[in-house]
Amino acid sequence: MLLDQLIGQERATTVLRNAIRRGRVAHAYLFRGPESVGKSTAALLFAQYLNCEAIRAGEDGRACGRCRSCRLIEKRSHPDVRFLTPSDDSDQSVIPIERIREEFVYDVNLRPVIGRYKIYVIDPADRTAPLAIHTVLKALEEPPRYTVIVLVTSVPASLPPTIPSRCQQIAFQLAGTDAVEQHLLTLALDPAEAASLARLSGGRIAWAIRAAQRPEVLAARRNLLDLCAGLKERGLPGSLRAAEEIKLQAAGLARAAVEAGSDSSAEEDTSGVGTAAVGERAVRGELPWCLDVIVSWYRDLLAAGQGGSLLNPDYKSALGQEVGTAACRRAERAIERILATRRAIQRNANLDLALESLAIELVGGE
Ligand SMILES: [Zn+2]
Repeated sequence: MLLDQLIGQERATTVLRNAIRRGRVAHAYLFRGPESVGKSTAALLFAQYLNCEAIRAGEDGRACGRCRSCRLIEKRSHPDVRFLTPSDDSDQSVIPIERIREEFVYDVNLRPVIGRYKIYVIDPADRTAPLAIHTVLKALEEPPRYTVIVLVTSVPASLPPTIPSRCQQIAFQLAGTDAVEQHLLTLALDPAEAASLARLSGGRIAWAIRAAQRPEVLAARRNLLDLCAGLKERGLPGSLRAAEEIKLQAAGLARAAVEAGSDSSAEEDTSGVGTAAVGERAVRGELPWCLDVIVSWYRDLLAAGQGGSLLNPDYKSALGQEVGTAACRRAERAIERILATRRAIQRNANLDLALESLAIELVGGE
């Protein structure tokens, strides 16, 4: 993959490529923008452009992706390119100060071994150990001329204000859902699933790609939509089981993420975290996505009633069976309730209670 092939990030990648082409590479960059839009991938591709052995002066500044340097960077084993990331993907995990010292502070003044540049990618920069960010800050004062520091964050406000002011800021944005859908189709995804995942992604391309490559995500989506389709027939006794099933889908996603050594909220997968039991926190982390799928069902009920386009085109006939004035009213109320539950879960509400009361309302609401 090349830097200019990043979906929906033409502005950001043009700035970076022009910097290389004109020989005006900054010492420090802050890649900022929403989660899962490709910032981490961009940092890796930028490092390839900076150190590619096949780039010659005067050319358009494209990395080849094949030379020794490009391949080493892709494997994250280039001696001059360091990726400083938390050791696992849990929210509490930070980049320890010892790593910042050993791999950055002590290293930054040594000349590159094989590359043109020494590149340090600190990702996410907002998750460095409390004092570590100040060591980074110090290095930003007088970086050696062959050094490029790339700080990646989706919450720039949580960095000390002096950090952004010492970096060239590169803004990444959400991609258009059409662009995401087109890209998913190139991954040989079923067209209806591609359309649905693109819309569920809200333009977060890295999320969409990861979802498309994880069969359990596609399966969870189908299970949740099937659950929605059958919800009305369940009656109140079935609603508790429905709550249980929603939680089960989230647990399945969390378990698969642990087994794959990645986390749904991280941009890139990092080193494996083994097969630790799936804790409640991991389930809680997957639930907002599950609730988004359920919201998409009710949005589709509204859209189907008004002849709008569907988020889940493959469920057109199931939706058609429910459409009607009552269904529209029910859908509006359901969306409100689901979003309130989503917020409550993110604020640490009791999972079982929140899901049970939601399911009771979704089943019973008429
Ligand atoms: Zn190369």
